[in-house]
Order: sequence, then structure tokens, then C-alpha cells
Amino acid sequence: MPLRTPDEYMESLRDGREVWFRGERVDDVTTHPVISKAARHAQIDFHMAEDPDYRELAVVEEDGKTFSRFFKIPRTAEDLMMRSRLIEAATTLGDTLVVLIKEIGTDALFALHAVTAELEGPYFQRVQAFYEHCRDNDLALSVAQTDAKGDRTKRPSDQEDPDLYLRVVERRPDGVVVRGMKLHTSCTTNVNEVIVLPTRAMGETEGDWAIAFAVPANTPGLKMLASPYGDRETRPDENPITHNHKMMETLTIFDDVFVPNDRIFLDGDTQAAGRLALTFVEYHRFTAVSYKMPLIDAINGAAAVISDYNGILGAGHVREKFVWLITYTETVRALLEKAAERCIPKPNGQVAPDPMTINIAKSTFAHGYHMAVQHLQELAGGILVTGPGDEDWASEELRPFLSKYLVGRKGVDADRRMRAMRFIGDLTAGEYGPYQEVLAIHAEGSFEAEKLQIFRAYNENGRARDVMKLFSGMAGI
Ligand SMILES: Cc1cc2nc3c(=O)[nH]c(=O)nc-3n(C[C@H](O)[C@H](O)[C@H](O)COP(=O)(O)OP(=O)(O)OC[C@H]3O[C@@H](n4cnc5c(N)ncnc54)[C@H](O)[C@@H]3O)c2cc1C
Repeated sequence: MPLRTPDEYMESLRDGREVWFRGERVDDVTTHPVISKAARHAQIDFHMAEDPDYRELAVVEEDGKTFSRFFKIPRTAEDLMMRSRLIEAATTLGDTLVVLIKEIGTDALFALHAVTAELEGPYFQRVQAFYEHCRDNDLALSVAQTDAKGDRTKRPSDQEDPDLYLRVVERRPDGVVVRGMKLHTSCTTNVNEVIVLPTRAMGETEGDWAIAFAVPANTPGLKMLASPYGDRETRPDENPITHNHKMMETLTIFDDVFVPNDRIFLDGDTQAAGRLALTFVEYHRFTAVSYKMPLIDAINGAAAVISDYNGILGAGHVREKFVWLITYTETVRALLEKAAERCIPKPNGQVAPDPMTINIAKSTFAHGYHMAVQHLQELAGGILVTGPGDEDWASEELRPFLSKYLVGRKGVDADRRMRAMRFIGDLTAGEYGPYQEVLAIHAEGSFEAEKLQIFRAYNENGRARDVMKLFSGMAGI
């Protein structure tokens, strides 16, 4: 099976899947005015595989097969770095927005391989078969991990309603029936398969919640409530990013969905559920930091260009902000590369990014993002939210005033300056700005989740013991 074309991918989404938008059932996600934008954005993945400029990065040959690099199981630090470069390149083509129709799904597939390789029973073979199905058919995948959770301090079995974490409600000889709602699932409206993972470690008696599986997006009982966030009308010049790019999240309801045996990758093993949740996160935080790089690089570039256009490049406070921005982005980049270089061995001959380093990278990115946006907005000026619209520029009566007064330093005309402003406005001040800010805090795990991982990994990799020994030696105790 060759790689799919962008059109074949679009065609595959017309399969009767149950998608809802603002209370109405969506007939066809590829023609819906909001959701189709997310599907077109995702086509970047398939365009890259066809584009001679990207083919070498986007496509690999292994054991006589040709497939998307996303499906290449990482066995070396170099494999991780090439994957990272591909994610960066795709996100750059998305004008700072990640594509994510293979990135997150393959993170889950790598984690499933690593965890099930050590389990007894049919799980590893099932994972392998599913992986080959996805790889050989060039499928788009989403991952539903985050549960509704109810009272955050209570375990799944202690919740007032046991369905607040997705669980098995019926076992049959040929499979299981699951019920629950997963939250914030990215790209679900425009993928072929939905992979479901447990979101946390389970207690000994919580076997019904220790379930991992995958189902096609059009499976009966699977309902996707597409988020209305960011559905406002956009204009090509006024909204240079969001007019062309969008990612769609859903509340993903499993209303007694039947999962056949061959699609069940974990069932009842409470120990393995926790390991699976964590292993997925090890891979996914590396993916996340990879797709944050074009975003923060764009902020840096925008800060430099708009400072130049505003004629303030030489000012002391501007240089101070540049130094902060450079230190921020290059710290995150160095940590990303170091996480690949320090990769750790996993079962199945795989490697995973070093958990401590990648969590420090993600945490550094997340804690600095709002400050980076603040610096850029400060350098740009208030016109980010008061500037003219496309119709004003088109007006023969108004344009002479705009061209006369909205210029920058000598040599920077109003049109050039305002094109830069509109990009920065779309990036930081429209609906996309807050979207990226919430993403920075919560997506791919919240601040606290990262802290937990940093602490745990520092202990597990022996660094805690080493520094205590070092100190004890110095202090003679
Ligand atoms: C745009 C976007 C896209 C996303 N895409 C995906 C996706 O594709 N797939 C997926 O599975 N998930 C996805 N996520 C979910 C993301 O991983 C979660 O948002 C994140 O894990 C936080 O979970 P939550 O949103 O339920 O917040 P909560 O967990 O409710 O966090 C709210 C607050 O409660 C605190 N808290 C939580 N539990 C406890 C506790 N036990 N004790 C004390 N404090 C606690 C947190 O630290 C935080 O301060 C996405 C999120 C966003 C915003």
C-alpha cells in the first residue's frame, strides 16, 4: 500500500462518523465550514510526503516497505532527532500550528509496544498487528487519554459516578463494551482511528478502568462533540494563520462502545495501566516540545522584525527582551536535543527520550510562554488589537490615511508593517493567542504533572543518590 494522497485522506473521512457541532449532527466533516479547515490543515502531512523538498524527511524505507517517518519506531537518538525535525517542519508549514494526525498516535503506538512487550498474553501481537495496519494504510490517529475525572482528588473507583473514568461495563467472549467520556481529544473529527489509553495509575481493584484499545472513528456509539472554540469568521489578510489552519478538539463520548478482542491492547492489568500512561507521556512530551519550537522561534523572529519596523532595535530595554527570548528558546531547544541524546532503552529494542530532561524542557517552555508573548506584544504596540480590517484596506477612501499614518521607521511602509502586525495579532491577540496559552499550560500534561515526572526521574536515574553521596563525601558524614 503506497502512502496516501491528500485527497485520499479527505475521502477516508466521509465514513458516517458521529460528529456534533454546536448541537447539530455534522453530515460531512470535509465540507463543514469549521471542521473542514482542520481537515485541510491536516493534509499538510500528506503533501509533505509528495513534496520533493520534504520527502526524504517525511518518508522512510525499511524492510522493503515505504511509509511515513512518523511510524518509524525509534531505536537510536538519531531516530528521535529525525522525528523531531519532521514535527518541526510540519508545524512550520502550519504557520506555528502542529498537524498532529500522526505525531500523537505514534507516541501511543511506541508506548503500547514498549509496555506490552513485557506482558504475557496476546497483547503485544495485537499491538504489532494494529501498528502494521496503521503504518501500511498510512492512517491518521488521535489519542484519547484524558478522562472527565470528576473529583480530581478521588480515584476512579471512589468517584460518585464510576463512568467518570472510562471503563469496561460488559465482557463478552468476542470483546468488551466500554463507557465514558474522554476530554480535549485533538483531531478526532479528522482521523481514521482513535486510540484510547488509561490516564493514570490504577489501584489493585480497578481492573475495569485499566483498559487500552483502538476503534475506527465511525464505530457505533462513539460520539464526538467538536469544540466551537475558534469558530469565528476569518479573513485571509487579517488572520493569516487562522484563516488557513485549525486543530479541532472533541469531547469524545463512548456510549457503550463495543471493542473487539483484536483491538484490546490492555485489559485488567492495573500495574501495566500506570506504566502505559507514563510511557506514552515520555514519548508525547518530546513530540510536544518539538512542535513548540516553530511557535517560539516565530515569536523571536516577530519580535526582531517588529522592533526593526518600529525603529526601536537599538533601545536598551529591547535588547534586554531579546536576550530573554533567546535564552528561553535556546534553553528549550538544547533540552530537547539533550533528551534525545540521553535517550533510554525500552523493551522491544526501542529508545525513549530521557524522561527527566524532556520534562524539564516542557516545563521550561510552559512556564516561559506567557512571558514570551508579553515581550512580543510590548514590542509590537497596541495596534495589534486596534488595527484596520481587510475591508478598511480595500477602501479607496480610507487607504490613503492608513498608508500615510501606519508607517514605521524610514523605508518601512504601512503595508509591510501592518502585515507583520496582523501576523503577530493573529498569533497572540485573537482567539488563537489564548488557545496557544491554554495549550502551553495544560496540553501534553499540566505543570504539576511535569514536576512530578522531573522529581520521579531524578530519583530513578540515580542522580539524587549521586548528589547525596557527593555532598556526604564533602561534608564527611
Ligand atoms: C488544546 C488541548 C488539546 C489537548 N489534546 C489532548 C489529546 O489529544 N488527548 C488527550 O488525551 N488529552 C488532550 N489534552 C488534555 C491535556 O493533557 C489535559 O488538559 C491536561 O492533562 C490537564 O487535564 P485537565 O484539563 O483535565 O485539567 P485538570 O486535571 O482538571 O487540572 C486542573 C487543575 O487541577 C489540578 N489537579 C488535578 N488533579 C489534582 C489532584 N489530584 N490534586 C491536586 N490538584 C489536582 C491540576 O494541577 C490543575 O491545576 C489537551 C488539552 C488541551 C488544552
